[in-house]
Parts: sequence; C-alpha cells; structure tokens
Amino acid sequence: MQPVDLRSDTITQPTRSMRQAMADAEVGDDVFGEDPTVNRLEEMAAERLGKEAALFVVSGTMANLVCQLTHCTRGDEMILGDQSHIFWYEQGGSAAMGGIHSRPVPNQPDGRLLLDDMEAAIRPENIHFPRTRLIALENTHNRCNGNPLDGEYMARVGELARRYGLNIHVDGARIFNAAVTLGVEPRALVKPADSVAFCLSKGLAAPVGSLVCGTRDFITQARRVRKVLGGGMRQAGIIAAAGIISLTEMTDRLADDHANARKLAEGLADRKGISIDPEDVKTNIVFFEVTREGMTAEELAGQLDKEGVRVLALGPTRLRAVTHYQVTSRDIDHALRVFENFLG
Ligand SMILES: *Cc1c(COP(=O)(O)O)cnc(C)c1O
Repeated sequence: MQPVDLRSDTITQPTRSMRQAMADAEVGDDVFGEDPTVNRLEEMAAERLGKEAALFVVSGTMANLVCQLTHCTRGDEMILGDQSHIFWYEQGGSAAMGGIHSRPVPNQPDGRLLLDDMEAAIRPENIHFPRTRLIALENTHNRCNGNPLDGEYMARVGELARRYGLNIHVDGARIFNAAVTLGVEPRALVKPADSVAFCLSKGLAAPVGSLVCGTRDFITQARRVRKVLGGGMRQAGIIAAAGIISLTEMTDRLADDHANARKLAEGLADRKGISIDPEDVKTNIVFFEVTREGMTAEELAGQLDKEGVRVLALGPTRLRAVTHYQVTSRDIDHALRVFENFLG
C-alpha cells in the first residue's frame, strides 16, 4: 500500500487533465505580455476573486512579498497576526527585501485579529513612529486550525482600514477552501481587500504557481516588483495551463477534503493519548496534540511513518495532518487503524 501522506496539500501531483493541458498549451513570452495561457489564467483569477486584474507568480511566498513591496516603502509598518504564515514562514522577507516593519498582534484561536487590537496597533502621526500602511490577514489560517474568515468579519476590518487610510492584504493561500466551507464565492470573502494572494499548488493540485489579485494599477506596479525579484517568466503558459484546470476542475471537490479531515479528527478524538476537538476542524487542516506521558510529537510522527502514515510534528507535542485529493476516505480509515494499533 502507498503511504497515506498527510504532511501537506503541497504534495499533490498534477492530474491527468493538467498534464494534457500543459502538453497542449499555447504559449508566448509572458514578460512581453504575450502568453495567451497566462493571460487567460490571470483573467480567470481576477474574475473569481472579484478584482480588476491578476498576476501569475511562482509561489505563495513570492505572491505575499510582491504585495507587501507594492503596498509599502522602507520604514512602513504592517500589522499582521503573530501566528501568520508571513510572520513565521517567509524568512522575514518583508524586512529583508523591503525594509518593512512588522507589527504582530495576537491571532485568536480562529485566526482573526481583534478589531480593538488592530486599532490599538495603528500608529498616530509622530516623528518617533513608523507609519502604519498595511493590515495583512490570512484565510484560511494555516496555524489556526485552517479556520476560514467570513465576509462579515472582513467587512468590519475593511471599515477600520478605510477609517485610518490603510490597505488590506489577504494571504488567501487556501481562500478556495474557505469559500467552499462557507458556501460562497471567494470574491465574497475579499471585497475590502486591496490585494489577495492565493495558491494553485496546494489543494488545487497544480505543480507550480500562485496569483496576486488587485486593481489594474496595483497589478501594473506588482508586475514591476515581480520582475525585479527575478520572477518574470517567459513561456509560462506551460505551467499556467495546469492552473486553469485548478480553477475549473479542482475547487468544488475541496469539500471532499474537508469531509475527510473531519472524519480523521473524529476518529482521532477516540484514540488514547491524543487531544483534539473535531469541532475545530472546518477545512482540510487537522491539528492535534499527543498527550501520552513521555512521548513527543516527533516520536509519534516517526512511528506512524514506519506504518505508512505521514504527518508533520510542528511543536514538542503538536502535530498536523492535511487532507487533499490524493487522500481518499479509505485512506483515512487506514490511517485511523494505524493510530489505533499504535496508541490504543
Ligand atoms: C503555503 C502558504 C504560503 C506560501 O506558499 P508557498 O507556495 O509555499 O511559497 C503562504 N501563506 C500560507 C497561509 C500558506 O499556507
């Protein structure tokens, strides 16, 4: 039996129809704006996110960085969650590449930032202070159980940002997971956002690529920033073709991943030595704690790996499992049997 690989939805392989679309893709030089397949993907992405324009980039990290560099100049400050992907997992690129000052405020367990916390972090005009320029949110929130943020919350953040003349960036690496869970189109979740980044190469199964969406002017500037970062690609339609399949064939089926994640969480709740509340699982990310005396997350992950179930240890006792299209409901049954054999 193949291992049940729950480490991340980034491990997904391109589907058959993606490989076919890639082989057949019509291409041109995208730095000259002449790749019809890239142009089509960008138009589709802008439409799905309800923005004027979009830009194809190589990764989610580059998408976030391009947006931060487009919104901010050196010495500007960005308010973001202390559990956010940008704060934890992007090498401090905003500081390293853009001289942008990060102002972390606490993420709530559901991934929100409290409006009061954000408002308190906004700098008044004062010669000692950096200038607050940007609020960055994450939807779904990776480190906060993959929780989705709804349109109502976003509208309230939008009102706050307008009041203080701030821009909003949404790291929507998994915004389609949020949309499927909440039963809305992704554009309903990012109305007040000035920029949105989302990934094709996670649950949407494309081999490469992310998109930045925003106004036409924002995207024109972001295109310059992508180029200076070395992200101008030529016959990129080869990979964009897979992204088009992501948007046409792979979004609705995310509901299956969410059902599998919930099934996994409910099964884990019955195991000894595991702590989890299945109600926390709203999308495809399942966090749980190992509570057995003397056992670390690393040890548990190592033992499970030997039995063909792969999860990530993300803390001394914290583990993460992520469902995706290469994990079936039967795979979850198998994974739960392995947990039971090992833990009882
Ligand atoms: C994966 C991820 C990113 C970065 O995407 P890469 O393509 O791995 O660079 C950004 N934000 C969130 C929330 C993510 O989960």
